[in-house]
Amino acid sequence: MTTVTTPQLTAELREQMHQFYRHLHAHPELSMQEHNTAQLLEDKLGELGVEHFRCGGTGVVGVLRNGNGPTVGFRADTDGLPLAEDTGVDYASTATGRLEDGTKVPVMHGCGHDMHMAVLLTTAQLLTEARDAWAGTVVLIFQPGEETAAGAIAMLEDALWTKAPVPEVIFGQHVMPSRAGTISYSAGDATALADSWRVTLHGRGAHASQPQDATDPIVLGAHIITRIQTIVSREIDPHRAAVVTVGTFRGGLKENIIPASAEFTLNVRTLDPAVRDHVLAALRRIITAEATASGAPEPTIEVLSTFPRNYNDPDATAALIEHFQRGLGEQNVVEVKPLMGSEDFGALATAIGVPSVFWMFGGHDQATLDGEGPVPVNHSPFFAPAIEPTMSTGVQAALTAILSRVGR
Ligand code: ZN
Ligand code: ZN
Repeated sequence: MTTVTTPQLTAELREQMHQFYRHLHAHPELSMQEHNTAQLLEDKLGELGVEHFRCGGTGVVGVLRNGNGPTVGFRADTDGLPLAEDTGVDYASTATGRLEDGTKVPVMHGCGHDMHMAVLLTTAQLLTEARDAWAGTVVLIFQPGEETAAGAIAMLEDALWTKAPVPEVIFGQHVMPSRAGTISYSAGDATALADSWRVTLHGRGAHASQPQDATDPIVLGAHIITRIQTIVSREIDPHRAAVVTVGTFRGGLKENIIPASAEFTLNVRTLDPAVRDHVLAALRRIITAEATASGAPEPTIEVLSTFPRNYNDPDATAALIEHFQRGLGEQNVVEVKPLMGSEDFGALATAIGVPSVFWMFGGHDQATLDGEGPVPVNHSPFFAPAIEPTMSTGVQAALTAILSRVGR
């Protein structure tokens, strides 16, 4: 195995990274609206002398070239969430934004994407300062719209892989509410496939006292929503993972009026594409058949989002984990089960048929984990990762991964 030289974070650079993080944290932007963030990233890459270009609207790609050698990709996501921050930190966000339908909402970096950006930019700076430690090309992918699964696909549709050198492997990492200073990973499936739908049920409205004149979409919806829970319990091998959740159900305005329509949204999580296909087909079958059973027209199904497979190549993962164990200590590198959360990271590698590895780095200090009450998780208004040793660990992991391929 080759020895990896790890350029060291100086106190000055670490402080600069923290400042950049706090700035990003205070100025979050919604998915696919990361205009100021993209401009800032372009400015920083320019300062480092790294060639860069826009891709997929608010995506930014840096191409760090250093002679002949392998090409490696590394992705950081850039979007915030429609969430009112309640962390109490002095760099808390007071930003607002507008959803696609125009609704004004508070915005927060509630998933740690601000850390991902600051960590990757700092890693890039270390690589520019230690050019003798490596040879090759590093493609820095600052991807918008992770939360809505719109960003990776937007970059791919904007010809990411004809504009940027094609890497032999793509890495990515995500801060999580585990112990800061540690890394966790799973070989094979990293995160779940996810599918979100809006289903509109069409019926016929009438007075509550005259059901004979109605086709009741609420009764229809109740049957569908109950029956689709039998997909997992009655149709899927119990050794395989699947979850079907109906998150909203809306219909009607008054207790004595049968409405003409109702609507629900659902979310499906699976790990195996074949299981996903089965669940989605079963959903369509049940939704259609229950409507027929009610004498109602066929419901309208609208796909809201689709998160692709995020699969950690077993060989690439095993090779990388050996480097992590040596760099961070075996006790700080933990194998875990796949997360049932979702990511669009996997699409970037799947599009070009190269392996990818995605791991988690811990963001909470021991006191927070041991404290009373629930530990704030990603997407909580209280999610405020400990800045250190979280960020230094993120830089060390990113550098270790990149240098495991391009290091001398
Ligand atoms: Zn998130
Ligand atoms: Zn995230």
